[in-house]
Amino acid sequence: MNAEPELHILFTKKEIKATVGRLAAEISRDYRGKNPLLIGILKGSFLFLADLIRHLDFPLEVDFIRLSSYGKGKETLGKVKVVQGIKSSIQGREVLIIEDIVDTGLTTAFLIDYLRKKKPASLKLCTLTDKPSRRQVPVTIDYLGLTAPNKFLVGYGLDCDEKFRNLPEVYYLEEN
Ligand code: 5GP
Ligand code: MG
Repeated sequence: MNAEPELHILFTKKEIKATVGRLAAEISRDYRGKNPLLIGILKGSFLFLADLIRHLDFPLEVDFIRLSSYGKGKETLGKVKVVQGIKSSIQGREVLIIEDIVDTGLTTAFLIDYLRKKKPASLKLCTLTDKPSRRQVPVTIDYLGLTAPNKFLVGYGLDCDEKFRNLPEVYYLEEN
């Protein structure tokens, strides 16, 4: 029987706040006046997206897509599926994907391919965190928040079996 996993802090509220502010400034510089469509990948990106758009003081729209890559627990299944699609038409739109974490890259690579077929005017990726040491397929990240080590992260929207999303900081889990 495993003991309860321990939570170790990785990114503080202050670091997250500064990162969200920096990313919002970069996005504002590039998208002001373009009425972009921000597509959040559910569920993990919901807090990040909510905080980010409060810094964007120009017209934009928001939609969500739900993909499955991880099953229960922590290992990727390697196969990505659209569980809930977007409602908006993206043809000719400036589209910005908002992700919580790029890990193997399979999810974002799949989504970029899926959305590109719908002919947006532009398609870019913003992610709060990145685990580059885990990459299996190449992914171009246009707006990168924080680089994380090869650990399983929870908090600030990220879960482990649906728990810990409500933590205001990002932690890594360590089994004892
Ligand atoms: P990828 O397809 O790049 O391997 O993984 C992308 C998705 O897996 C992310 O959107 C995220 O939902 C989930 N994921 C990857 N690494 C972590 C992690 O460390 N913690 C949590 N909670 N989810 C992760
Ligand atoms: Mg996700």
